Amino acid sequence: MYYGTIKKSDIANGEGIRTTIFVSGCRNRCPGCFQPETWSFDYGTPFTEKTKAEIFKTFDNPVVAGLTILGGEPMEPENQRDLLPLLREFKTCYPDKNVWLYTGNLYEELTGKPGSHEKALDITEELLSYVDILVDGRFIEAEKRLGLRFRGSANQRIIDMNKTRAEGRVVIWDGCALDKKYD
Ligand code: SF4
Repeated sequence: MYYGTIKKSDIANGEGIRTTIFVSGCRNRCPGCFQPETWSFDYGTPFTEKTKAEIFKTFDNPVVAGLTILGGEPMEPENQRDLLPLLREFKTCYPDKNVWLYTGNLYEELTGKPGSHEKALDITEELLSYVDILVDGRFIEAEKRLGLRFRGSANQRIIDMNKTRAEGRVVIWDGCALDKKYD
């Protein structure tokens, strides 16, 4: 897996102070994508054990709330296979910190039977089990709204995965109630 950027002390992509990885590779080809360079799976820098150690070191700071995974598209099959061991280790080492993951795909596509969608793999269920908040859906220019928290367009959902698992239905994150209404 390659990544374009790692942001430390990020406050734009999830609640609290976070460490954010922008992984490379995306086949979604959204019209008007503002970062087409990230479509390439070898854009940026290889993600190595050294990169992981550098990221994990940031979580020793108690003010860092968690890890955010952005893209590109984290749920491309190649990226899922590399993210799975990373998230598994993250949750073992830092059980009190959370994971936010952004995908252009829908929760329903990812959680169908393995093979029912190109992104629904045999490992997807385990990967998603390590995710606390899933921001799903494509960015759609016509749905762009100022004042949305942690997402660009109103069609994108911020899904509370822990409540969703507990209740067996999609539960939207409480924090969306704090969206500001500019329009
Ligand atoms: S999912 Fe993101 S990176 Fe991929 S095409 Fe859409 S906007 Fe671009």
